Amino acid sequence: MRIGAHVSIAGGVDNAVERELAVGGNCGQIFTHSPQVWQTPDIDPEEATDFVEGTAANLAGPWVIHASYLVNLATPKDDLRRKSIDSMQAEVDAAATLEIPYVNVHLGAHTGAGVEGGIENAAAALDELDIPEDVTVLVESDAGSGTKLGGDFEHLAAVLEQSSQDLEVCLDTAHAFAAGYDLSSPAAVKETVAAFDDVIGLDSLACIHLNDSKHAVGTNKDEHAHLGEGEIGVDGIRSILNHEALRELPFVLETPTEDGRGFEWNIDRARELREA
Ligand SMILES: [Zn+2]
Repeated sequence: MRIGAHVSIAGGVDNAVERELAVGGNCGQIFTHSPQVWQTPDIDPEEATDFVEGTAANLAGPWVIHASYLVNLATPKDDLRRKSIDSMQAEVDAAATLEIPYVNVHLGAHTGAGVEGGIENAAAALDELDIPEDVTVLVESDAGSGTKLGGDFEHLAAVLEQSSQDLEVCLDTAHAFAAGYDLSSPAAVKETVAAFDDVIGLDSLACIHLNDSKHAVGTNKDEHAHLGEGEIGVDGIRSILNHEALRELPFVLETPTEDGRGFEWNIDRARELREA
């Protein structure tokens, strides 16, 4: 099973490899810089080499770069759109440098442009990127609060169709659940995966952000919980981990870390819930 967590690159990107190993992960996710500010990844070539070599020697992979939270591809505002495209270009270039196959991004909020307008904006913004050959941009499912896009699988499917890039999808279980796709029982997981396949196609699913949700299905509230301890619960998480269409995908955890039970606890729990 490929499972890991979102880990810090503090002190150099190469440190992410050891942090991943320390929590028991064999794949994972990083920010290339603080996600709350506009900043360009500043990757030291030597650290990049150590990261690539450390990954090849120790991890099954893959790594995912999570784009900045400030990026809003769906925006109708020219300045924000420009900054978002520039930021994404820097992320896909960083991914190529680090030999990371995926850059994960939320579509963002249409802020009044309307769902269709926002989808057009996002697809057009993605089309401006010069994406290196071995890098794929993943659009992530969203909890769908406010005017944010990506809560409905239809939004993701429309962006994949309208964009001329070879995009794929990251399914965040907490987000999809908050957006109204039930994942709390074996039957619900089966139904949600079937809905994903109908609307987007499982061929386009590259990665799972495996998180439980502190809030109930359909609340549009994005707050992650420890695996099995939220509203998705043990039965739901077990069904996700073992679903035949999902089990070979990389599972990346973004579970809480502030209450003493960190990623190690959650990765252990996932391994317990995994059936042979
Ligand atoms: Zn996520």
